[in-house]
Amino acid sequence: MKLEVGDRIQTKKTHPCGGAEFEITRKGADIRMRCLTCNKEIWIERIKLEKRIKKINGERPV
Ligand SMILES: [Zn+2]
Repeated sequence: MKLEVGDRIQTKKTHPCGGAEFEITRKGADIRMRCLTCNKEIWIERIKLEKRIKKINGERPV
């Protein structure tokens, strides 16, 4: 799965604030992303995130 800094993703599991949209702010083995609803940044393991992604920039991941 291709993820780039600046990509907007939608996840199956929502953030505690209720938001499901995030923007990638850093990538590596762990991904840093910002919740677009509450603006908090979180770290998540790439492998975990890939399972939770529903859409990338409005499109279904390949
Ligand atoms: Zn949030």
